[in-house]
Amino acid sequence: SAKSGGRGAFRFFEPELDEIMHTRRNLERDMRAALAGHQFELYYQPFVNTATGKTSGFEALLRWHHPQRGLVMPGEFIPLAEETGLIVPLGEWVLRTACAEAAKWPLDLSIAINLSPAQFRSKELVPVVVGALASSGVAPHRLELEVTETAIMHDSEAVFAALGQLRQLGVRSALDDFGTGYSSLSFLQRFPFDKIKIDRSFVSELTSAKAEAHHLARAVVRFAVSLSKTTTAEGVETKEQLDILREEGCAETQGYYFSRPVPASSIAKMLPRDAGAAVCAA
Ligand code: C2E
Ligand code: MG
Ligand code: MG
Ligand code: MG
Repeated sequence: SAKSGGRGAFRFFEPELDEIMHTRRNLERDMRAALAGHQFELYYQPFVNTATGKTSGFEALLRWHHPQRGLVMPGEFIPLAEETGLIVPLGEWVLRTACAEAAKWPLDLSIAINLSPAQFRSKELVPVVVGALASSGVAPHRLELEVTETAIMHDSEAVFAALGQLRQLGVRSALDDFGTGYSSLSFLQRFPFDKIKIDRSFVSELTSAKAEAHHLARAVVRFAVSLSKTTTAEGVETKEQLDILREEGCAETQGYYFSRPVPASSIAKMLPRDAGAAVCAA
């Protein structure tokens, strides 16, 4: 075993660690080039009004077309982008690109954008958001900024201050991945979120056979309503999950059941005919 191997164990692990560091450095180098080389693209996933079935908006989700590795998902590069600070210029690109795209949609559709804690620390966030809205012409109330519970726990004051300023301009915010962090309910109450996004891990538990999962979903929805916040369930994959969430009063739903995230060029097909034609022509 590794333990009884003594020094041999270290020799065994060294090359591996070296390889990880090497891969990391390459990824960091490639990411800097990618921003300049237009290798990033935003995909969009609709979120749907649970009662009416109508699309309420789209969430922008980042993709990286790596020249050698192909399509790279955010889980692979966002953490490194955060560590290296690259998330600040990358996040600015996301805000500007997503707002420019949303400017082509019907006016009742929202655009949701994910933000990292490092973007709040940069102090540039509020002017960058204001700039993205101004240059695209998108009304502030159509923009929804998503922040994870875990992110807030590390940087609550910076997040609180920026979201407060943006809220005064009419920009909305959502607590993403709710239920995966460890924040207390009173802590969440302090934050001026408009929306709570119930994490996929809860939604995947929702089957007719599991009564406790229903009760949990119901409790989260009621908690949100009691704080005057709306709810979106993430990761809805089946009709059964949708039906349960509707019954429990969840306002919005999002997931593969409706659509996977798609490139901007595919959005027109998902909109009502007239609006779709307008987007195609734009
Ligand atoms: P998120 O914001 O919670 O986004 C939801 C993730 O779940 C997305 O993964 C989406 O593709 C996936 N998903 C949606 N519906 C379903 C479903 O029905 N089943 C399953 N299994 N998965 C579903 P993705 O695109 O890989 O993004 C992962 C995370 O990366 C996001 O989680 C978000 O935290 C982060 N991220 C993505 N784009 C950006 C960005 O532009 N900036 C920042 N800071 N973070 C981003
Ligand atoms: Mg999100
Ligand atoms: Mg989420
Ligand atoms: Mg997530």
